[in-house]
Amino acid sequence: MLFSWLRARRRRKLLAEPFPPRWVAFLERNVRHYTRLPSPEQVCLCNTTRVLVAEKRWLGRGGLFVTEEMRVTIAAQAALLLLGSDRDFYPRVREVVVFPTEFRTPVAGDDWEDDFLSDTASAGQAVDRGPVLLAWDTVLAEAREPDAGYNLVVHEFAHQLDFRDGITANTPDLGDRPLETRWRYVMTVAFEDHRRAVKSGADTFFTPHAADDEMEFFADATEAFYCRPADLKGLHAEMYDLLSAYYRVDPLAWFGTENDNEGDSLSVRL
Ligand SMILES: [Zn+2]
Repeated sequence: MLFSWLRARRRRKLLAEPFPPRWVAFLERNVRHYTRLPSPEQVCLCNTTRVLVAEKRWLGRGGLFVTEEMRVTIAAQAALLLLGSDRDFYPRVREVVVFPTEFRTPVAGDDWEDDFLSDTASAGQAVDRGPVLLAWDTVLAEAREPDAGYNLVVHEFAHQLDFRDGITANTPDLGDRPLETRWRYVMTVAFEDHRRAVKSGADTFFTPHAADDEMEFFADATEAFYCRPADLKGLHAEMYDLLSAYYRVDPLAWFGTENDNEGDSLSVRL
């Protein structure tokens, strides 16, 4: 109780300060979503960004020093997922670990140093009750080009919301029972359809990786929702509406009706 009161006071103090103009420059240069948001949402994004930058521990690995620009660029994208909600600021994520490029996953007990490494290289990973690990080169490229349809930060922080809210293990809290029942049905059918399509070798809207399990499917669908809203709405209107009910935002209003999303290659994300 005392702790949460102190934290609320610290946050109020932080947000009473003017938003640093150089941070606005980072956002305008790196986070294309920011430039598309209406002004009240921009303010909300900036506030959440400040809290995330201040409260998370930012670790550079693989020889990388995490600059202020990197923190702001990453935090602002994570803040996109909190725009429409009164959810807390990823309270179970204490650390964000940034690598210069794709990395072979280090081990938790090793403080995310690289003495012990997994066999697979990836650009991102989210650990339940642990950190988010990110490759900076992918983060920056995708932050600047949301129309490509991918966003590594959105993907990994969607996993964190999933871990916390039990979205794929159960059903998210949508404040409406029939809607929650609908969610389970729509997402399960869409996931099974996608899995079958990937197995048959067909071209698919969602990535092949999204066929791995429902957690990957949800993270991938969240990327599509934020980066290719028009395409998602056109293809899966009901899924779009359900994601809109969960995130309480309407990215279509930010993007207009066109997405230009063809052709970019996708890095591995776990
Ligand atoms: Zn994933």
